[in-house]
Amino acid sequence: MRLETKNVHGGRILDPETGATQFPVHLSSAFAYPDSKKLAEVFAGTEYGHVYSRITNPTLTAFEQRLSSLEGGIGTVSFSTGMAAISGALLGLLSHGDTLVASSSLFGGTWSLFQEFFPRMGIRVKLVDGIDLASVRAAVDNRTRALFVESVSNPAIGVADLEGWAAIAKEANAPLVVDNTCMPAHLSGKKLGIALLVYSTTKWIDGHGRAVGGAVTDTGAYKWRSAPHEHLAPWITKAGPMAFLAYLRNRILRDLGGTLSPHTAWIHSSGIDTLQLRFDRHCDNAQVLAQFLSTHPSVRSVLYTGMESSPFHERSKALFGGRNHGAVLSFTVSDQAAAWSVLDALKVASRMTNLGDTRTLALHVWSTINAAFSPEENAAMGVDPGLVRVSVGLENAQDLVDDFRQALDAIPATP
Ligand code: PLP
Repeated sequence: MRLETKNVHGGRILDPETGATQFPVHLSSAFAYPDSKKLAEVFAGTEYGHVYSRITNPTLTAFEQRLSSLEGGIGTVSFSTGMAAISGALLGLLSHGDTLVASSSLFGGTWSLFQEFFPRMGIRVKLVDGIDLASVRAAVDNRTRALFVESVSNPAIGVADLEGWAAIAKEANAPLVVDNTCMPAHLSGKKLGIALLVYSTTKWIDGHGRAVGGAVTDTGAYKWRSAPHEHLAPWITKAGPMAFLAYLRNRILRDLGGTLSPHTAWIHSSGIDTLQLRFDRHCDNAQVLAQFLSTHPSVRSVLYTGMESSPFHERSKALFGGRNHGAVLSFTVSDQAAAWSVLDALKVASRMTNLGDTRTLALHVWSTINAAFSPEENAAMGVDPGLVRVSVGLENAQDLVDDFRQALDAIPATP
């Protein structure tokens, strides 16, 4: 099935009782069984069923199946947010004393998790220039138990050589985790050797700015039977190739929580129906807006991989199927004052955080998401005071160009 067909049919479960094509929202905290033996068997996992919605729920299962189909994965575990998915996947892999090798070009929330939280847990995080494979390789040590990179980095809009990352991960026998939030369903994870795809489903999968959620999909590329992660050994014996998914569900969700609500699973599931249709239009609009911005005298630089002048253009074409280059772009003007005045003059685009809404959202990253970080940390994430990030929406492209033109015309041209 091609993407559009997969969006509407892939992994869909009909409601067995009524045949409803939109799977019902099971707002039930727990599930009753006719006798204690059956309940004990479901608890033990020897019989299929649901016991408690912190761990599984039929509506979550229906959503997870659709995501697995979309990504061609062997299974998916959903989470309450994208951050819960990232922290859940990595806490599922890393123990005290282990090393995580990650690209420094990251979403600010992930940076903070890696730099502030993980070290407190005794996890060593080595942040490297993800574009430079030699630095990635040099950072790997004999305690490296995971590697992490964003497929399109937010907000620096870089695309790392994911095949190169996967080769290094393979040499290290450590799973490669890719945050594919910005290119949903556009990455052949298994073929590239990526072990886990993590998502903020809050973004284009929801697609309408309605609810937060996240997911981890196991592509099947990593052979868990040879994993050096000691805590996974019993799960490998019990669940074979599904070992990590079983651990995520039965330990990370069970013990840490962070479970998606069935209501949000239903909302995000219905978002999948129109994902490709919307994403094509988002990306087309981003392309038009990026081209316009690159011609405006007040704009210093435009970061968008759809532009032939982008150093990542060819790689983006090769990795993401050639048509779409994503729906988030960044551009820089001279300084924070200029960025704020452009933002404050926008009439169509909204000044707000988030990505993947139907509406165009524009944000001064330096003074918002990244406000707590030092200039050096911001530089490592590719953020400077003149940077504006734009999540390009579904408006008419000309209306967006007109909006940004009138806002940029009001500030001086860059010298
Ligand atoms: N990953 C990326 C690339 C993001 O942009 C974000 C949020 O902006 C997240 C993860 C975190 O997702 P959530 O806000 O759903 O926790």
